[in-house]
Amino acid sequence: MNTTFPPATVGYGFAHRHLLGIEPLQPGEIAYLLDQAAAFADLAPGEAPDRLAGATVINLFYENSTRTRSSFEIAAQRLGADVVNMDVATSSVKKGETLIDTADTLNAMRADFLVVRHNQAGAVKLLSRKLDAHVLNGGDGKHEHPTQALADGLTIWRHKGRIDGLQVAICGDIRHSRVARSNLLLLQKMGASVRLVGPPTLLPRSYENLGARLYHRMEEGLEGVDIVMMLRLQVERMAGTFIPSGREFFRHFGLDRERLARARPDALVMHPGPMNRGVEIASDIADDLDQSVIREQVEMGVAVRMACFEALSRHRASPPLRAA
Ligand code: ASP
Repeated sequence: MNTTFPPATVGYGFAHRHLLGIEPLQPGEIAYLLDQAAAFADLAPGEAPDRLAGATVINLFYENSTRTRSSFEIAAQRLGADVVNMDVATSSVKKGETLIDTADTLNAMRADFLVVRHNQAGAVKLLSRKLDAHVLNGGDGKHEHPTQALADGLTIWRHKGRIDGLQVAICGDIRHSRVARSNLLLLQKMGASVRLVGPPTLLPRSYENLGARLYHRMEEGLEGVDIVMMLRLQVERMAGTFIPSGREFFRHFGLDRERLARARPDALVMHPGPMNRGVEIASDIADDLDQSVIREQVEMGVAVRMACFEALSRHRASPPLRAA
């Protein structure tokens, strides 16, 4: 992987105006973003080029977020942009403003980039159609969370030197997880084999159509894998009862030492956060720096978001497309 900036081996290879998901990306475009991000990750914070100087980034988060929002904010600032965090809880959205009217308001402010998180799957795409700004998906419902998957891909790449040919197990609440979906798409496009592990209530059969292998027992799903990716139970998206209790869930699907021993001895343990210790993952495993790369996933999150802003900013040379 490249360690110089800008990377010498990969030419400009990203042709999108928005980053709405992993699904529309070609493997070469993902490799381009990861390579750029790797170069950013190797720079000290003050060394990043101010590619976004004079640009305005608006963070519009309709759902709670700790790391994603601050990570986008830090990434934009490191590239020299001005960042505005719109507080949806106290904004006119709470007064009943529609998404389309919000888009009009944002167009009038002439933002260059809009980072959106929304609880509805189609909302980010809808905004991208109405906005002059570049739109980045910060997580839309249970649909996609592309920058999380890119951060995870970069973390894997840095440790294993490849993604191609790896066996990855994504475990837990697959049904409600945008992280699972985006990771499945990215990892498969980059040549990994993906297993999905969870109780039948949280693991829709339809994922088989996307090429994943489904397991209902952790012991089988983790056998010989290179990567164990744990997910939080997305209780905020559960309409009904999907598991008896957190404690019961841990008994069958929590990552403990015994289950982790089924994976390869050099397997990485990952989690997008926020973690629920003792529900999907045992505390000692989350904190074991020999295998857990959870902290590094957060660090790589800033680097990939810088790479995404950078790649999209190249479209700024041409005039923005006006919404019809
Ligand atoms: N932070 C991730 C997301 O927004 C994972 C999670 O919340 O469990 O989807």
